[in-house]
Amino acid sequence: MSKKVIPQEAIPDQGGFTVKIEGKEYLVMNDAMFTFYQRSMGEFSDFFLTLRDERKILGCRCTSCGIVRVPPFALRCPECNFAPTEIMEMADTGTMIATPPITYFANSLFQKQVPFGRGRILLKGADTALSINCYTTRGILVPGLINKGTEMKVIFQDERIGDITDIFCVPAAELTAEQLGKKGLLSSELDWERAVEPQLPDETGENKALFESALGELEALAAELNDCARARQDIADWQRVIQIKATGGSFILQIKGEQLAIKPGVEPHPDFTIVCPDLKVLLDGLGYRGSLTQAIMKRALWISKNSEFTTIFKLERMARSLARSKK
Ligand SMILES: [Zn+2]
Repeated sequence: MSKKVIPQEAIPDQGGFTVKIEGKEYLVMNDAMFTFYQRSMGEFSDFFLTLRDERKILGCRCTSCGIVRVPPFALRCPECNFAPTEIMEMADTGTMIATPPITYFANSLFQKQVPFGRGRILLKGADTALSINCYTTRGILVPGLINKGTEMKVIFQDERIGDITDIFCVPAAELTAEQLGKKGLLSSELDWERAVEPQLPDETGENKALFESALGELEALAAELNDCARARQDIADWQRVIQIKATGGSFILQIKGEQLAIKPGVEPHPDFTIVCPDLKVLLDGLGYRGSLTQAIMKRALWISKNSEFTTIFKLERMARSLARSKK
């Protein structure tokens, strides 16, 4: 099935809900008002078509002053009495001109991209910077991985539609010389599984006892979450096998059939891995006493795949649903 302009999850269910205002119940119905429109890319058409079809980034150089603009937004140079510019293909490497802010909570339009950095890259040979999303192939994107001046490589999505999100960039240091040298490098050519796990302290009798105690609390909490219809809804149609590694021990957290299951041991091929030096951090997040996202940003919790932030988001929603259902 082709992708739709409005994603399925952004479409509300038929029906409604009630809100209580000053002791009286009011019914609020879900309804729709929509307008689709088409917009021409105009003079930018070549830029987007070349991204989509040739995996190349175009810029333009003024024939008088030589300034190179990317994207090629001035077909005539406003600095040089409208001298003509010439289209040129740009390098696909460059540096960030500022430290990109990272978005963790996006609106529904960008939900599938989180967490992402949004910054401006100065491609080699360019005089203006290009807005671009930034990612890392080494686990979850946290502050400090990509900074002002970090050397980056532009990567192309495998499925391109002629939009600026057809490209994104990753730190050049994460790539091999061959990948760096290849033009039009595709997302599927990157190794997204090369995350380097944070080291945990060795198991001791003391930290093992703390781990076992926190695990017991976590099992009790999971049972509570599984009993809460509203929390179960948050993981509807979601299946994941997550390896959890903490100081003092490891276990498997499985999400399946609207249930959280905690199993002992090590899974050879988990969907992703969570490393939390202190298991209490995970416990507090699921118990709605702390935020898992905040923990990730502060590096108290680490996940092996950036795209699995979606799963963290669902777990946080479960915690919130349970807390609200108790009110
Ligand atoms: Zn000029």
